[in-house]
Amino acid sequence: MRLNLREIIGNPGAALPFEAELDTDGLDFPAVRAYVGKPRAVGRVTNEAGVLKLTGELTADMLCVCDRCGTEFDSRKTTALHATLVDEDDGENPELFLLEGTEIDLDEILRTNFVLDMESKFLCREDCKGLCPRCGKNLNLGPCGCGKEIDPRFAVLEQLLDK
Ligand SMILES: [Zn+2]
Ligand SMILES: [Zn+2]
Repeated sequence: MRLNLREIIGNPGAALPFEAELDTDGLDFPAVRAYVGKPRAVGRVTNEAGVLKLTGELTADMLCVCDRCGTEFDSRKTTALHATLVDEDDGENPELFLLEGTEIDLDEILRTNFVLDMESKFLCREDCKGLCPRCGKNLNLGPCGCGKEIDPRFAVLEQLLDK
């Protein structure tokens, strides 16, 4: 979606609210199995003493796969949107986006903010115990039998601690 800022350019203090959906085509992450509906953005572009700033929030509901145990889980991700709209961009600052005449490419801003905010780890819960490296059992569901075969060095240590 393109947003025309004609009304607020050259009008310090003015603001233009927006609502948009993020097109998830091409936004594939290994840990995201599916998007539940389209992510939605709400925000505004404000003319702050002549500088155009975009702020807002993007909410995405996703079906994710845990990096540690492989279980699918629902996740709601909220991304804070930040962009400064400029006439010239040297490509160094990811928060700068080019004005095209009086318009901006809102899709590009939403996508960039979303991708930069994507976690590198997806866990079904903070303290996910993962899978047993020996038998593959999901240890969140309870201990497996492997724990009984203790490393002989630990067995000695346990005996010492028992005394
Ligand atoms: Zn997990
Ligand atoms: Zn096991």
